[in-house]
Amino acid sequence: MMTPDNCGIEEALRQLREGCLHPSEEQKKRIDRLYEEGMLERNGFLRLICERDEPSAAYLSEKARLRQAEHFGKNVYLRGLIEFSNICASNCLYCGIRRDNKKAVRYRLTEEEILDCCRAGYAFGFRTFVLQSGEDPWWSDEKVCALIRRIRKEYSDCAITLSIGEKTKESYRKYFEAGADRYLLRHETASPKLYRKLHPLEQTLENRIRCLCDLKDIGYQIGAGMMLEAPGQTVEDLVEDLFFLKKLQPDMIGIGPFIPHSDTPLSGRKAGGVELTLFMLSVLRLMFPKVLLPATTALGTVDPRGREKGILAGANVIMPNLSPQAVRGKYLLYDNKICTGDEPEKCSHCMELRMKSIGYEISGTRGDAPGWIRRVYT
Ligand code: SAH
Repeated sequence: MMTPDNCGIEEALRQLREGCLHPSEEQKKRIDRLYEEGMLERNGFLRLICERDEPSAAYLSEKARLRQAEHFGKNVYLRGLIEFSNICASNCLYCGIRRDNKKAVRYRLTEEEILDCCRAGYAFGFRTFVLQSGEDPWWSDEKVCALIRRIRKEYSDCAITLSIGEKTKESYRKYFEAGADRYLLRHETASPKLYRKLHPLEQTLENRIRCLCDLKDIGYQIGAGMMLEAPGQTVEDLVEDLFFLKKLQPDMIGIGPFIPHSDTPLSGRKAGGVELTLFMLSVLRLMFPKVLLPATTALGTVDPRGREKGILAGANVIMPNLSPQAVRGKYLLYDNKICTGDEPEKCSHCMELRMKSIGYEISGTRGDAPGWIRRVYT
């Protein structure tokens, strides 16, 4: 049964107020500066992350909540995730639906099935649909555009988000003209060395960044982000990510712990924990006060209250799964993914309860990036 506790974070705050928990003077100074200025120098970030502990994490999350409240109040935005194909031509070493995983049971939803997901989602109050897939060549630009046009026609009050990987600028332009508004493409890591370790030779960080720049240039609201605690990742790499994001200025940032998948080359490696992700969510909220920041499924997978904790650390978006029940168990990017057996209806109800339990409300709006205006093509 869900109880309105605050996942331990309120308790940490109470102790902090009552003097049981003191962030060190140095950590407090860094956090205060990050709160005021939205930025630290490289060494400041390095030390902030390396010296993190319970008191400094509690202090940081309190500041992050102040910023979150300033721009979003107690509103959490909903995105309905439709995983429409797990067929993938890419071969990311960490991902369960990579090309070389012969054990993955592949599927592809039809246009009609995808529309059914939107219909169900709309009825539950979703006003953003996120269409995510592997890099599936069957879905040509023509097919993707036809799908976007149908959704756009039927749901003129909804945002359409794509998350279908690396394409040419021309393709991105076509999707935008067809009516897509947002695009999620995590950069995964801004460290060229780590990127190389996590991907095959033919996939380059350079191309990933080129895609993000093209998407931004076209006028999408763009989402970047990184996996945390991926094998070989250092705190220096994380700081690199923060500087990369500062330069890119994305509208959305998706982060979550790395979780191994047993049929990948990274099988058996250690999964990331909830603690670093929460800390980084708070850092990101202070760096980017208005950014859309999801408390991800991966966070909910490593901790049963991970998503609630994510919101309390500064996140303001949740992405329940709208994929049909029959295929959910097949879109396995990592082991033990949550909500693979649930009905979409149960999923959205569960989210509502979870948000209520921590004093937050699900917003019924599209939840665009503050200030974003759609560019019109002529
Ligand atoms: N094909 C699309 C969608 C990828 S899946 C694309 O290339 O953008 C969405 C995200 O899941 C990835 O960007 C990655 O950050 C995350 N992911 C994949 N495998 C993961 C794993 N083993 N652990 C944690 N996150 C993972």
